[in-house]
Amino acid sequence: MVKTIAVMTSGGDAPGMNAAIRAVVRRGLDCELAVYGIFNGYEGLVQGGEALRLLRWDDVGGVLQKGGTFLGTARSERFRTREGRGQAVLHLLQRGVEALVVIGGDGSLMGAQVLASEWAEHVAQIQGGSTPQEITGRIVPQLQVIGLPGSIDNDLYGTDMSIGADTALNRIVQALDNLSSTAASHQRTFVVETMGRHCGYLALLSSLAGATSWVLVPEEEMGLRWHQKMVEAVDQARRIGRAHQMVIVAEGAKHADGLPIRSEEIKTILNDRLGIDVRLTVLGHVQRGGSPTAFDRILASRLGAAAVDFLVRNPERVHQHMLGLQKNVVVATPLLEVVEKSQAVRIEIENGNYSRAQELRGEGFRNTLNLVKVLSRITPARELREDGFVAVLTDGADAPGMNAAVSVAARCLINEGIPVYGLRDAFLGLIKGDLIELDWHDLVGWVNRPGSEIGTARYEFREEDFARIAENLARFRIKGLIAIGGWDTYLKFEHLMKLREQFEEFKIPVVLVPATIDNSLPCTEFAIGADTALNNIVEAVDKIRHTAGATRRAFIVEVMGRQCGFLALMAALASGSEKAYLPEIGISLAELNQDVEILKTSFACGKRMVIYLRNEHSSHHYTTDFIRRLMEEESKDQFEVRTAILGHVQRGGSPTAFDRLLASRMGAFAAKTLFQALQGQEFEVQVLGLRGRGIEATPLSLALQEMDRQHGRPKRQWFMELIEVANVLAKHAPLCTIAAE
Ligand code: ADP
Repeated sequence: MVKTIAVMTSGGDAPGMNAAIRAVVRRGLDCELAVYGIFNGYEGLVQGGEALRLLRWDDVGGVLQKGGTFLGTARSERFRTREGRGQAVLHLLQRGVEALVVIGGDGSLMGAQVLASEWAEHVAQIQGGSTPQEITGRIVPQLQVIGLPGSIDNDLYGTDMSIGADTALNRIVQALDNLSSTAASHQRTFVVETMGRHCGYLALLSSLAGATSWVLVPEEEMGLRWHQKMVEAVDQARRIGRAHQMVIVAEGAKHADGLPIRSEEIKTILNDRLGIDVRLTVLGHVQRGGSPTAFDRILASRLGAAAVDFLVRNPERVHQHMLGLQKNVVVATPLLEVVEKSQAVRIEIENGNYSRAQELRGEGFRNTLNLVKVLSRITPARELREDGFVAVLTDGADAPGMNAAVSVAARCLINEGIPVYGLRDAFLGLIKGDLIELDWHDLVGWVNRPGSEIGTARYEFREEDFARIAENLARFRIKGLIAIGGWDTYLKFEHLMKLREQFEEFKIPVVLVPATIDNSLPCTEFAIGADTALNNIVEAVDKIRHTAGATRRAFIVEVMGRQCGFLALMAALASGSEKAYLPEIGISLAELNQDVEILKTSFACGKRMVIYLRNEHSSHHYTTDFIRRLMEEESKDQFEVRTAILGHVQRGGSPTAFDRLLASRMGAFAAKTLFQALQGQEFEVQVLGLRGRGIEATPLSLALQEMDRQHGRPKRQWFMELIEVANVLAKHAPLCTIAAE
């Protein structure tokens, strides 16, 4: 089994790299490995000496919320030479390093692959050389390398998301939101350039999440008339009075002849042809910077811990793999395959094979491109038909992203010629007959709005409501429904389905879209709103951690989630909180006693602050305040205890990029599912979910079977597997050295 490993970051820095290093170091120490940190990427490795240092548990304390990489990164020309790599091998051999974990983009992974493939030759050369005595320990016959995808561009094969991409996407989307408010005030048109030299991921996805008017990506062939089309689109958007027009361009977008399209050029074209005030914003390094999002921290922590596990649990094999996350599962792909397939897209683009390049990016990329094109249309493709409406409602507690789901679902239906009503305040609208016809043009601006534009309400049916609902369904000629909501919404439709014999009008197709910040719904790994709430919690916990002057203070932070521990557990993992009390596990007095003892030891060993997250329903009797009082009493004045109940802050704010994208994709899928049901004259109630192969529809009757009805959460919850990783990464240093975080 390996005993000594090293970890490094290389190439362009990406937010979340620190979380990955922290996970490698702490999981490594937990498995009793020695872990070297290599400073300044391959340059440090070639240089040797102080650039390779043993890392301790507390060396990676306090890094989780920081952007960039504390190990530093560099581009190294010396490592590109054989001599340079010979030096690198020598420095690793001198320290007995058997496995190297490299966090970086395809260039860095290529470097790791080259190093591993030449290893034996370099070792032979060093052994036969003039100074073989430099190596004192056992000779390592073959280096193992584990790559982790670190790239804001999200251009790596073998992983759905690379570390840093989610943060970059959120930075862009925030910038678009900010620009759109000033653009609307001044009637301005903006051209926004994103990073992505060879990959349009950031530009394309932020175009969807930010509702831009036009997008230019390297993977799409630009016809000779591309300017004209773009100018027309912006011109028409202005004429019909759209609040703002934005063109988003990836830095790698190309003309038909392969020459780069510069963003300045786009600005000039729009300026000259339309005679309007066009402003250019090149987002540049803003996209790379700042604190990583919850998703990036969790992704990096999972992959970092998995890298160590992979080495420790498969001792008989020599590894040269990259670990990535595919459909929410950690998957190992041979490094060579990752590098070749990642670079293949670039080569196809260079050779002008755009459709092949899109194919290699995957089905999701092409679907998104098509969806963006539908949504940015000035007018729908078809005239509205007159044979009935589809109604959309948002039910229960509001969840950030609901507006994006309504906006996209409605526009996809209108584009097919189906008129759409929004029900005011969910079922109340249906009961009172309060409906608004949704307008293609108005819907564009809804994507980034918090709350729900059509209104949402918690409402218990009364017996007399059903006849009113039936009456209004008939009166407004509603032939299908899309309901965006949570568990109570699912139960309401279960109830309505049972009344179908009594009310013929209820026999219409229905699609349920999961939206709840609690993430407590069947058939889906993520519900709309959960990512925004998670990020709200993580930001709050980061701030609490930074409260100046706190010494020997324990915080109990109460978070939402009802009977589901998703928010508490994931926020603990992402914020480095020491513990999460979960409703799935409950709280016992024995555990609280134990926690008090742990706090005493931690503070005695020099820890300044400890944060425990408590889900609001993790125990009926051991409330947040009870725990505070118990701990304060038992602390015997050795530490203070404070509470913070985050409350509705968690629900608020503009939805994150992930929630907007999930909502948009689910909205489009809901429209497609309903459209097909209408064509096939089926009237099933179907539930959408994201898992396994992507978004799928499941009959409500089957979805209900996946639920633990007593507790209002799914019987099986994928994130419970992460308890172990969260525990290992947050626990205190072995042997109780000073532990930060
Ligand atoms: P990224 O990892 O972000 O794609 P680069 O392409 O700049 O960044 O690669 C980072 C470093 O990896 C380079 O500076 C170089 O030291 C090393 N590297 C890249 N490609 C190779 C290669 N083919 N052989 C050896 N080293 C390489």
